[in-house]
Amino acid sequence: MNICVIGTGYVGLVSGTCFSEVGNNVTCIDLDEGKIERLKQGIIPIYEPGLKELVLKNIEEGRLHFSTKLEEGMKDAEVVIIAVGTPQAPSGEANLEYVENVAVSIGENLNGYKVIVTKSTVPVGTGQRVKSIISEYSHGKHEFDVASNPEFLREGTAVYDTMNMDRAVIGVESKRAEEVLTKLHEPFNTEIVVTNVETSEMIKYASNAFLATKISFINEIANLSEHFGADVTKVAEGMGLDKRIGKHFLQAGIGYGGSCFPKDTSALIHIGREVGEDLTILKAVEDVNRQQRMKIADKVNEVYPDLKGKKLAVLGLAFKPNTDDMRYAPSIDLIPYFTNKGAEVVAFDPIAYENAAKEIEGLQYSTDLYETIKDSDAVVILTEWDEVKKMELSKVKELMKEPIIIDGRNIFNLEEMKASGFYYASIGRPTIS
Ligand code: NAD
Repeated sequence: MNICVIGTGYVGLVSGTCFSEVGNNVTCIDLDEGKIERLKQGIIPIYEPGLKELVLKNIEEGRLHFSTKLEEGMKDAEVVIIAVGTPQAPSGEANLEYVENVAVSIGENLNGYKVIVTKSTVPVGTGQRVKSIISEYSHGKHEFDVASNPEFLREGTAVYDTMNMDRAVIGVESKRAEEVLTKLHEPFNTEIVVTNVETSEMIKYASNAFLATKISFINEIANLSEHFGADVTKVAEGMGLDKRIGKHFLQAGIGYGGSCFPKDTSALIHIGREVGEDLTILKAVEDVNRQQRMKIADKVNEVYPDLKGKKLAVLGLAFKPNTDDMRYAPSIDLIPYFTNKGAEVVAFDPIAYENAAKEIEGLQYSTDLYETIKDSDAVVILTEWDEVKKMELSKVKELMKEPIIIDGRNIFNLEEMKASGFYYASIGRPTIS
């Protein structure tokens, strides 16, 4: 199939590349000329395991192309996929400006029947809005169908998730569009859920909101556990073995961040408000999450009520491991909080340091884990990078001024920490002192 993907970010680039990997002819479009120029030379703008190899292979084999010109991508395309950003507007709702601009351009360039698929996460009803914009700008000259095909990939495992998707959700208005999109997903050998466009749009928001709810729920249980000497990791294990609950997304920590959960929960609350439905659970989910990242600051303050002159080694800047994405990363709030209190902060991150330096003023960072830790008064773990999980605790102890670890991701075993002689505070588990 000939496919045009509009918006070559995390989602557009990964899904476009994977569609080419299974034999389609794909053109990825972006407004960002620098990005497209670099991609044509095989330089990948984001960090995502396995992506570079796939992009290079498919460019080489002639199935993957990049352009800034929409007309080039759309000319022979049977499927046009919208994958531009839908960031959070100051009001909390999704900003649809990019999607609407793309719909105008699609209308202007429509030259025959195509299925226009929205992959971006968009409020329920956006499919109809896209349809009416395309009709207006194509002056009804050509037939087309709109469809919804939300994306469920996770940053850090995006290529794997796409090649091994749990399910594909296809929201359609015609049998013709259903056939085209079913054929597109056949090579992925996955369960296909066919719905109307509105249901498909709702599935995406409901999925992200539910996952965010699981995280805030376990974090609330973690905070409660601390009062009673209970260990939340064991609580989660005991709960998760119940098949009705499941073990995923029950890791207590400093809350969710990233480009999706914060904005999607907020957008869903806004969608509810617009139709007079108060989404009480989700408002609480947001409240818990907002407060949760500051739990780590409380734990540092417990050890050092005065941070002046103290050196903190912050391990991890990205919102989660294996990504360079800094959107809504806890480090953005926490590092300035510590420096404003007079601490000297040096941060370690193997990948996200450049993006982090754009977000955190005056950020001092190193890509050398042990160099970061040297002479520190406390280690503060914000991201569970493998390098951090595997660090040699005896070496860490030798390098530090004081053997203090405050762990926002519960990466170490309590027994191991007891034996190692650290002061060790984590989330929802007894502190070892
Ligand atoms: P992104 O910001 O990484 O990429 C968006 C790209 O679209 C940018 O490169 C931008 O230059 C380009 N763009 C904007 N307007 C354009 C236009 N008119 N023509 C061509 N290109 C244009 O965004 P992302 O993280 O890939 O997210 C895209 C959508 O997918 C969002 O709605 C997001 O909520 C959703 N989503 C993201 C993830 C994720 O993990 N990042 C997962 C699932 C769903």
